Amino acid sequence: MSTDPNAPKLVKLIMALRRDGIHDTRVLAAMERVPREKFAPQSYKHLAYENQSLPLGLGQTLSQPFVVAKMSQELALKPNSRVLEVGTGSGYQAAILAHLSQRVTSIERIPELHHSARARLLSLEIYNTDLHLGDGFLGWPSGAPYDGIILTCAPDSVPQELFAQLAIGGRLVAPVGNQNDRQSLKVYTRKSETKLSAKTLGLVQFVPMLGGLSS
Ligand code: SAH
Repeated sequence: MSTDPNAPKLVKLIMALRRDGIHDTRVLAAMERVPREKFAPQSYKHLAYENQSLPLGLGQTLSQPFVVAKMSQELALKPNSRVLEVGTGSGYQAAILAHLSQRVTSIERIPELHHSARARLLSLEIYNTDLHLGDGFLGWPSGAPYDGIILTCAPDSVPQELFAQLAIGGRLVAPVGNQNDRQSLKVYTRKSETKLSAKTLGLVQFVPMLGGLSS
């Protein structure tokens, strides 16, 4: 029998994710394996397995588990995929992606968040992530092309630089636009060198994607 006091809450969360349409067993397994309480600030750890977003400090947000799972599922990653994330934040989404792919490159513009995410992922013995301090509007060209690109902050429209770093057959998942602080969750698939298809999945709420490094 498990002695982890969070185990019953985690079981409940996984059941809620399944009920809400998360059917990818690799995504569900990753959500089970990554301890979300390690990514939540001290005063919110007791809410880590509730299906809700949590404040990270510095005006940033740890996304809701359902949204993390949904975006991860939409990326349709394979064990040998390479993925780019814009908006490392706590590193939670990066940790989930690390279980689903070969290598995760993740960019954050706020130095404090970048440094603490790096320390956190190492303490969890997650070694297949490359975390960079930088401006996500530029992507990370030296690792391109990526099989998946995920934005966890919302631009008005997806920067061309990011589309340019998406492999043929690859998917880019992002919250786009702004209607009363909500965005459309979009999934783009690169069909060929010149062709992208797009679908919209519904409304989500993310912090804005801001240009330049935070000082
Ligand atoms: N994926 C995170 C949640 C991130 S919140 C997690 O799992 O915890 C969104 C993050 O995007 C914030 O940390 C914010 O600083 C960052 N961000 C906003 N604009 C950015 C940009 N242009 N480049 C890189 N990061 C950016």
